[in-house]
Amino acid sequence: MGYQLVIFDNDGVLVDSEPTAHRILSGYLTELGFPTTLEESYHHFLGNAGRTVHQVIADRYQGVLPEDFTARCHDRVFAAFREGLAATPDAAAVLTELRQRGVPYCLASSSDHAWIDLTLDRAGLRPQLPREVVFSAQDVDGVGKPAPDLFLHAAASLGVAPGDCLVVEDSPNGVRAARAAGMDVIGYTALMPPQRLVDAGATALIERLPELLDRL
Ligand SMILES: [Mg+2]
Repeated sequence: MGYQLVIFDNDGVLVDSEPTAHRILSGYLTELGFPTTLEESYHHFLGNAGRTVHQVIADRYQGVLPEDFTARCHDRVFAAFREGLAATPDAAAVLTELRQRGVPYCLASSSDHAWIDLTLDRAGLRPQLPREVVFSAQDVDGVGKPAPDLFLHAAASLGVAPGDCLVVEDSPNGVRAARAAGMDVIGYTALMPPQRLVDAGATALIERLPELLDRL
């Protein structure tokens, strides 16, 4: 209670990017000879850095992906995002409500700024999320979640102590990062089995974003 800052994950929490990203990722892997369903893609890769893809393919198939796999995959995903991308249900309304209540918020994502910028622009969330409250793993030498660095950097940049922050996350790695940073974290269960978020350390769960407003 009495949080001084709400920190949102981006993909899957504010922008509905995961279905598109994983449809393309699983399709590309399958095309390269590593059959992967959409469900498997969510299971292994949601909320994980690109490096994980190379590792999983090595472990499951003793396979090696092209060196430029991640860049090529991003190109395909970006092209799809340009065709259209929505915010998650009620994301814009919740951010607007927080602003009206005077509750500071920001975004912290393991994705790079180009990805974040494109998704916010296409989903129509740029007015609620100007660049000064948008933080990427790029800002902390590429060290993404589950390391706590990104969340600690966001909090420090906005002058808030970690213990006064509340994080909203939809991936186990994101939940782990928040806990490692000493922050409370609400698990958003739209795409992830709730138990995986609880096991990762989520301190509360919500099914719909507006429920967040009752937890502040
Ligand atoms: Mg996410």
